[in-house]
Amino acid sequence: MGAIAANDPTLMSWVNVPQGSDFPIQNLPFGIIKTEDLSPRVGVRIGDHVLDLKSMFVLGYFENIAVELSDFDAPFLNGFMRKGKKVTRDVRNRISKLLSTANDDLRHNEHHVAQVLIPVEQITMCMPVQIGDYTDFYSSREHATNVGMMFRDPANALLPNWLWIPVGYHGRASSVILSGEAIHRPKGQIKPDPQANPIFSPCRNLDFELETGFITYEGKALGDSISTEEAEDYIFGMVLFNDWSARDIQTWEYVPLGPFLAKNFASSISAWIVTLDALQPFKTDSPSQEPEVLDYLKCEGQKSYDIALEIGIQPEDSMETTISRSNFKYMYWNMAQQLAHHTVNGCNIRCGDLMGSGTISGPTEDSYGSMLELAWKGTKPLKLSDGSERKFIQDGDTVIMRGHCEKNGIRIGFGELSTKVLPAK
Ligand code: CA
Repeated sequence: MGAIAANDPTLMSWVNVPQGSDFPIQNLPFGIIKTEDLSPRVGVRIGDHVLDLKSMFVLGYFENIAVELSDFDAPFLNGFMRKGKKVTRDVRNRISKLLSTANDDLRHNEHHVAQVLIPVEQITMCMPVQIGDYTDFYSSREHATNVGMMFRDPANALLPNWLWIPVGYHGRASSVILSGEAIHRPKGQIKPDPQANPIFSPCRNLDFELETGFITYEGKALGDSISTEEAEDYIFGMVLFNDWSARDIQTWEYVPLGPFLAKNFASSISAWIVTLDALQPFKTDSPSQEPEVLDYLKCEGQKSYDIALEIGIQPEDSMETTISRSNFKYMYWNMAQQLAHHTVNGCNIRCGDLMGSGTISGPTEDSYGSMLELAWKGTKPLKLSDGSERKFIQDGDTVIMRGHCEKNGIRIGFGELSTKVLPAK
């Protein structure tokens, strides 16, 4: 579809964007906002402000774009996303034009600016999407190898299907929560003594998984498939994603059908959806795939993105320690392959589905995406800057994930994904 005008690195906004912000005019991510006075509605982030799209629509700024008031005056983005890629792109391009220094239409109408541009301190973020279905993949070769080495056989860490199939499972949408919402430590069956019977207990090996998620547009009819070539037209954007995991519950329950209670108690997402359009300048190569994949998984051109990721742990009343730095580009299977595989059997995806990347581990010990790997099954505790040690996540810890792209002086990011762990109920 050619270059996207809103990604022009020379664009500047008349809205102040602080140095190092994740949200310059080249980003313009979508979310759902509310304030003390304003009902939930669609918003777009720019610097330390949020643009109220409901008010923008009412004031006539989206004239000649195929949108209606209910697309923006809504508690979720689904109605807007249902309009499809061309319309959401038209809206982002229009906002880019109106916020750029080259255009005075909004800028010189002080009354309008005061109405549509809200300081971020006044905003409460809401869940951006009503998620219909949530699927989680297992697409990092480094992560799958590390887990295979710890749980099975170091010599045959990858299972035979892994290099042929973007392995995944169906997760649970009801427990996907927004950044800022705390979780309680899950409880369940664990088997601390392998020779004894299982016991019922609060999870002792609580872990995070550093992932990204992508949110889909409306897909095709049941029975049809989405090719790797078409896949990007069905992806609205990406979020940071923490797929909380109870390792001790997982170890006991996962054979033969895979994760169940170890994974479905909570998964956290970041509040701003960064569009796939905004990410285009940061496309990069994926790892080469050997053996050659089957035809329906083959891709033309670059399908991965250079997104730097980091994880921090902040204990109760203490400072944060960065414990890992990874990158989305390490993923063996890309999003186009995941979507093509998901639908190759005719499974339909719908507007607002969430697809998790799978834990994103890099090649080095300081780039792993889970505590399981960082502390190697508890054998190498991590030291935090307050002097304490972690094998897994403790009550009172807040786990913080961040992600951003940077190129030619332009930085676009996802903001923060932050979740505190409270004691078991
Ligand atoms: Ca996962």
